[in-house]
Amino acid sequence: MRLIFLGPPGAGKGTLAVRCKDLLKTPHISTGAIFRDAIAAKSPLGLKVKSIIDAGKLVDDETTIALIKERLSQEDAQKGYILDGFPRTIAQAEALETFSTVDKVINFDIPDSGVIERLSGRRVCRKCGYNFHTVFNKPKKEDECDFCGGEVYTRDDDKPSAVEKRLEVYREQTQPLIDFYRKKGLLVDIDASPMVDEILVGFKKAIGI
Ligand code: ADP
Ligand code: ZN
Repeated sequence: MRLIFLGPPGAGKGTLAVRCKDLLKTPHISTGAIFRDAIAAKSPLGLKVKSIIDAGKLVDDETTIALIKERLSQEDAQKGYILDGFPRTIAQAEALETFSTVDKVINFDIPDSGVIERLSGRRVCRKCGYNFHTVFNKPKKEDECDFCGGEVYTRDDDKPSAVEKRLEVYREQTQPLIDFYRKKGLLVDIDASPMVDEILVGFKKAIGI
């Protein structure tokens, strides 16, 4: 199944994707994670995008589209995928149509208050991408991932000033995709406010598994 996870930052797209990729047996493709890996590796892509991402702005469409086009052409993405964080603009969605057909778009529905609460406490494993939270879901050992032993850290773009910018960018550039996909009959809304186990139940129902 070819799925897009759509929703504001902090809606839990990545958390759910990590939880259900084994279930679906398709790769979880997160543009944000690809950019963060590039930044950590100090590759040319990483050097180009670091200041943009830290400020909570969007990487340009051309760079992002080329990256996803290449990623979707790889072997493991042929049987399906979860796209997490792409597309984020109408231009990206239109480009995607030229190289892949999407089955469903899952819209993570959550109020701003929930988003801010999640982002302000979010901690991420540098190695496997698992999302922890300082209040709701602490790692057993401080700063160490329960699952892979990787370092658990706070993303630079989860700082309050960047969070505000990301929400603004979401409203202006990404929210219009809800209508874009609804008109195409691809959109499925899920309530993203509860804890992830409950979201998983709603998600399974939404995609009929
Ligand atoms: P979140 O969903 O929590 O905002 P992501 O990990 O998806 O975080 O993205 C982090 C950052 O990476 C974004 O704020 C943006 O700067 C950049 N980014 C990710 N996906 C895209 C995209 N499709 N287009 C442009 N920039 C992107
Ligand atoms: Zn980990």
